[in-house]
Amino acid sequence: MENPFELPPADVALNRYPVPAYDGLKDAIRRSFGVPQDAGLVLGNGSDELITMLVTLLNRPGATVLAPLPTFVMYSMSSQFARMKFVGVDLDATFQLDLPAMLAAIDLHQPALVFLAYPNNPTGNCFSRDAVEQVLRRAPGLVVLDEAYAPFAPDSWLPRLAAFPNLAVMRTVSKLGLAGARLGYLVAAPAWADQLEKVRPPYNIGVLNEAAVAFALEHAQVFADQAQVIREEREALAGELRTLLGQGLDSVFDSQANFILVRVAGKPTAGMPAADVARRMRESGVLIKDVGRMHPMLLNCLRLTVGAPHENRQMIEALRRALVERSHAQR
Ligand code: PMP
Repeated sequence: MENPFELPPADVALNRYPVPAYDGLKDAIRRSFGVPQDAGLVLGNGSDELITMLVTLLNRPGATVLAPLPTFVMYSMSSQFARMKFVGVDLDATFQLDLPAMLAAIDLHQPALVFLAYPNNPTGNCFSRDAVEQVLRRAPGLVVLDEAYAPFAPDSWLPRLAAFPNLAVMRTVSKLGLAGARLGYLVAAPAWADQLEKVRPPYNIGVLNEAAVAFALEHAQVFADQAQVIREEREALAGELRTLLGQGLDSVFDSQANFILVRVAGKPTAGMPAADVARRMRESGVLIKDVGRMHPMLLNCLRLTVGAPHENRQMIEALRRALVERSHAQR
């Protein structure tokens, strides 16, 4: 009952520093993910580190980072850590970019850096391509399309790099199935990549991570197949969740990622409904994310990760039970 695939050759030189060009790993990334040969490629210890590097690169007195809200929390946190001004622009009621507000904020703040998560976390949707394009044209600085959830998304901005000199596409192997390996990559025009390289810690990817990811990418099809299963499971799960509409759930939001955002019914005064459901589910052994206090637009919202088929069944059952218990408790 063994896994038949051999581990990478045991000549990982643990006594040596990594070779900081990471040529072998970069070639594997280019091959596996369709990164054009003429595009610049920068590696990070997870995309979290790339976010820190981007902020470090573009920080100077008066410079601003701009992103829609709610979104991935590290954009604002990394900016804060670097004492760089962060401006958040609320999404519209459908979680799409509020384009007039975004363009007005760009004109006002002239952001050095804009982050757009595509698909967005925690809402799960992709912003309209037309709106993203208008942001790219209007922004005076770098616009980073964070495609962390690319394995589950319908499209990518990678093919459009050449069309927008201020576009960078950031990806990670985390959601693909290698979250422990800590590897993110950023693709942009070579002029941008060269600048970002200047603030990259020289040995940010250890030799073990390098070897592990290079080996895993030799079996990229395995991960592609798993992503396909997760996309199918996501649709099945969304269908199951919709049967709970009116039975304790108010909304099930469309997702292009590997999680689904839902809104629990109930007045927030009645003991924070999302927190209550999350607690009941946790007690039955299912951990989900209560995002209800992250942003006013996420009031009563839970983020559910799409897991393996048996986990999803367990999650639906735990949710169903929690909603029933809640309705009984409120009588
Ligand atoms: N971007 C987004 C939108 C994310 O949701 C996450 C992880 N939750 C990341 C980046 C960070 O990924 P990594 O594991 O590569 O640091």
